[in-house]
This record gives sequence, structure tokens and C-alpha cells, in this order.
Amino acid sequence: MKLSEISDRIEKARAGANIWENVKLLAVSKNVDTNAVENLFSQGQIDFGENRVQELKRKCEILVDLPLKWHFIGTLQKNKINQLITLKPVLWQSCNSFELAVAVDKRLDYRLDTLLEINVANEDSKSGISADEAIDTYRKIKAECKNLNLVGVMSIGAHSDDLKEIIKSFELTYKIFENLQKSGAAICSMGMSADFETAIKCGSNMVRLGRILYA
Ligand SMILES: *Cc1c(COP(=O)(O)O)cnc(C)c1O
Repeated sequence: MKLSEISDRIEKARAGANIWENVKLLAVSKNVDTNAVENLFSQGQIDFGENRVQELKRKCEILVDLPLKWHFIGTLQKNKINQLITLKPVLWQSCNSFELAVAVDKRLDYRLDTLLEINVANEDSKSGISADEAIDTYRKIKAECKNLNLVGVMSIGAHSDDLKEIIKSFELTYKIFENLQKSGAAICSMGMSADFETAIKCGSNMVRLGRILYA
């Protein structure tokens, strides 16, 4: 689908919800090659997301001449921490434990904007902090990891055919986010190709879209 069509759908959902003045689109490029990234860039897209450090590095190197902003959205292996830090992503969206936060914080020599990943539907297949522990963990990271600049939360909606379950998971993420706004949270990253309009209605201000951009 053309970027302009997706942007129109995001804008329509945003206007309907009328919670935010702007909802940001992160283009997830994990399943496409650099030519698809260049194509989206030529349509005005700047923010891109990858879920593997090795692939992020590869694309960064090939596309070094483009003024792109890279987000890291995948599970971060301990042995890839240094490499990720070197790549200086604009946002690390997938900080999924206190322990990992400490490990990254220790190695950082600059402040890295970071989101806490919440496993809001409590699914074994997903990583992230449980909804129950999210607020405490966020505050603890904020207090103890001075090189991590926590700026919000990220979640993946419930994996379900039942729209009610999906809505419930987004509403819970948004509730946690609202609670953390007084601790500086500004980004509520939720919504993917299958559910981004629902996520925006529930308060998302950043959607992460992959498949739909290339369909
Ligand atoms: C792959 C991925 C996306 C994009 O998913 P699509 O269904 O392709 O839109 C978003 N967020 C994360 C964390 C992902 O891994």
C-alpha cells in the first residue's frame, strides 16, 4: 500500500480518537531489503525499525548517506549490546527487563532514548514486563540507569481473533502509560499492520507497521 494511503488511515483514526495531535509512523523494515527502505524514504518516511542488531547494522551501513532514524524493536541478546550501542539508534523500543536495562546502561557512554516493553496480554510467546510490574520497573530503571532516558512504553497487542481482547490489551497499556506520564513518559508505541487503527483509538501515538507497507 502506498505510504500516503497509510498516512491517511492513520490520520483518520487519529482524528476520530482525538487524543493526540500527531501519531508517528515507524516503518518496520525487518522483512524487506534496502531498496524498499529507499523507496519509502523517497515518499518521505524517515523512521525505520529493525528487530535484529546484525541486520540493523547491515542496513545502516548500506544506507549511511540517507538521513534515516533507526529504532531497535527486537529482543536484545546480551552479546549484541555493544554493537547496538555503537549504532546509536534514535530509540530503543524493546527494553524488556530491569536486568537488561542495567546491562545496557553500564556500557553506554551517551544517553539512549528507551521504551519499556510491556507484555500486556501476558503471553508466553512474547517478551516484556508484565502489566503488574511495569510501573515499578519503569521507576526503578529511571532511578538507577542514568544513561537510559526512558520516554515511554511499547507493547504488542493481544494475539487474538477477538477484537475485545485486543482492545483490552491496548487499553491496559494506555492506562499504564497515563500513570507514567508524570514520570516523563511521552511515547505510547502500540499498533501493527493488523490492528493499528484500533491501537490509535485506544491512545497510541506511535504505530509500528511492517507488512501493510509492502503489500
Ligand atoms: C515485525 C514487528 C512489527 C510490524 O509488524 P507487521 O505485522 O508486519 O506490521 C511491529 N513491532 C514489532 C515489535 C515487530 O517485531
